Amino acid sequence: MLPIGYGKNACWFRFSRYETFENEKDVKGIYIIPAQKSEKIVYNPFDYAEDLISDYLNFGKAIFDGIEESEKIGGALNLVTKYGLLGVITYNEVEKYLRGFKYHNRKIYCFYTDGEFIGKKTFQEYIDMIFPLPNRQLFFDLDDFISSHSSFERNYSERVNMIVNKAKELYSNFKSVTDFKNTNEIENMPDKEYIRKVLNANFYIKNVDLVIEHDEVNGATLNWSADNLFKMIDIIYALKLVDKKSGLAACKNCGNPFLKSRKDMEYCSNACGNSYRVKKCKRLKA
Ligand SMILES: [Zn+2]
Repeated sequence: MLPIGYGKNACWFRFSRYETFENEKDVKGIYIIPAQKSEKIVYNPFDYAEDLISDYLNFGKAIFDGIEESEKIGGALNLVTKYGLLGVITYNEVEKYLRGFKYHNRKIYCFYTDGEFIGKKTFQEYIDMIFPLPNRQLFFDLDDFISSHSSFERNYSERVNMIVNKAKELYSNFKSVTDFKNTNEIENMPDKEYIRKVLNANFYIKNVDLVIEHDEVNGATLNWSADNLFKMIDIIYALKLVDKKSGLAACKNCGNPFLKSRKDMEYCSNACGNSYRVKKCKRLKA
């Protein structure tokens, strides 16, 4: 049996305000960090699954269609303000390292999600990438979990490119899936091309745990489990992809990704439906 449910008890956090800064040393680029004294808000990403996925996909589409660098920063900041940072390194991993349990003296090959090679890093250098600002360092005290954890969340930053690449990766898969669905005449297609289409449409959910959860009503159930937004997005996207009734579709008129509220829905909005019918009518008259 495969887990079909997820997220009843999932939680993530965001801050009420974020700001950007430019890191000029080491891993250069524009970063996003919670604004000082902003408020922490805990929420369940699963409750916002539809918005989360369509926001990420539409940002991914905009990037594919071609937008300016400043629009990428604005778009990423907008997503982070709504849903929080992706949380690629978790407090748990950092704590294990700082307590001396993990990764000592081991070099990690670091890549961005688009495959760009960052370099061979020690875990400490890896942590320094996330906390590059001198006045926003991680405070860590073995005996003070609450302050250490809070310092981690408040000072943790991520490169804009992390968010941009996540959106691009999702949209690129969505495009391949749409392309595969729209494939007619499979019989006449060369095998090689067909296989390429099938493989491109595959989506891998990486580093996600499965967990048996217990409650009084359902007893033991098998669930997905993830400890950061990056993985939660993958799970939610995957579940929306396989959901035939209210899952993802590409609008027949504008091509934008949208979530269906009925199985036979074809357009992202009434306006797009009308516009498509008008165009079709004009084509028929011509
Ligand atoms: Zn549309």
